[in-house]
Amino acid sequence: MKDACAREITYLRLSVTDLCDLRCRYCMPPQGVPKRPHDEICSVEELVEIVRQAAALGVRKVRLTGGEPLVRRGILDICRGIAALEGVEEICLTTNGTALSRLALPLREAGVDRLNVSLDTLRPDRFAHMTRVGRLEDVLSGLKAARTAGFTGTKLNVVLMKGFNEDEIPDFVNLTWREPLEVRFIELMPIGEGTREEFLPSSAVLEACPELEAVDVSGVARRYRVPGGRGLVGLIEPLSRCFCSGCDRIRVTADGRLKPCLHSEQELPLRGLSGLALRQALQEGIAAKPPRHHLAETGRSGAGRTMNQIGG
Ligand code: SAM
Ligand code: SF4
Repeated sequence: MKDACAREITYLRLSVTDLCDLRCRYCMPPQGVPKRPHDEICSVEELVEIVRQAAALGVRKVRLTGGEPLVRRGILDICRGIAALEGVEEICLTTNGTALSRLALPLREAGVDRLNVSLDTLRPDRFAHMTRVGRLEDVLSGLKAARTAGFTGTKLNVVLMKGFNEDEIPDFVNLTWREPLEVRFIELMPIGEGTREEFLPSSAVLEACPELEAVDVSGVARRYRVPGGRGLVGLIEPLSRCFCSGCDRIRVTADGRLKPCLHSEQELPLRGLSGLALRQALQEGIAAKPPRHHLAETGRSGAGRTMNQIGG
C-alpha cells in the first residue's frame, strides 16, 4: 500500500519487547526500564496477527527488534508464526548478539533469514563501559555461532560517537576487507539517552578511511567498499542526509501501537483488533505517515519514547 506521499510501504519493524539484558548508555537509563505486566505486551498470537494483516497490505519484509528481541520468551514461536504467513518474503532480526551462541541455530531453523548485530566497539573495556553490564566476548562468540548456523549477509550496526569510538572506525572498516560483512555506521540520533554532544557525522568515516570507494545506495544506506575487500561499509545518516522521501517502513511497539514514523509522537492503538478491523487501522496509520522528520531543525526526536520502547 502507498502512503499519502506515494511511498510504497513494504517493511514492518516489529518490537517484541522493551526489555534488554544490556544498558547501552545512549539507549537505556542505568536502571533499565521497569518490567511491565505481562498483559500490557502483545502476545505471540497478537504479534503474528499484526504481521498477517500488514502482509495483506503489501508488507514483505519484517524486522524483529526491541529492546532485545532475544530476551523475549516465545521469540522462536513468533519467528515460526511469521515465517508461515503468506506474503512475508524476508524475516530479519536486530540483536545485541549476547544470546546468539545459544539461539543462532534455533533462529535459523525458525525461519529468520538475516541478522543485524549491534556492536559499537571492538575493545572489551569500552564494551563493558558502554553497555554497563555486557561482555564483548559474548557478542564475538555469538557472531561466530551465527556463521556456523548458516547466516550470511550479517550486518554489524555501529553507532558513531564522538570521544568514544571514532578512533575505531579504521578497525571496523578493516573487518570488511577480510570478511564478507557489511559494517553500517549509524549517526547517533537525539532520541532516548542519545545527546547532541556525542554526535559524530558520518563524514568522519570517509575522512578516516579515504580509500573507501562508493558502490551504491541500498535502502537507507550509502555503501562503500575498501578496494579489493570482501565486505561493504554502509553509512546511515538520519541527520546528515535525511532519507525520509524513500521511507518504506512502519513500526509497531511491543505494546501494540503503530508508529508510522520513528520520530513522530503519532501512535495508533492496535490491541484488541484483528482481521479486517486491524487491517483498516494499519491502513489508516500508513495513510497518516508524516512526510519527514524534523531532527535537524529541532535537535530532538518527537518520538515521545526511548529507542528500546519503540524498536530501533
Ligand atoms: N537490542 C537490539 C540491538 O541493540 O541491536 C535491538 C534494539 S536497539 C534499540 C536497535 C538499534 O538502535 C541498535 O543498533 C542501537 O545501537 C540503535 N540505537 C539505539 N539508540 C540509538 C540512538 N539514540 N541513535 C542511533 N541509534 C540508536
Ligand atoms: Fe539494549 Fe539494544 Fe538498547 Fe543496547 S541498544 S540497551 S542492546 S536495546
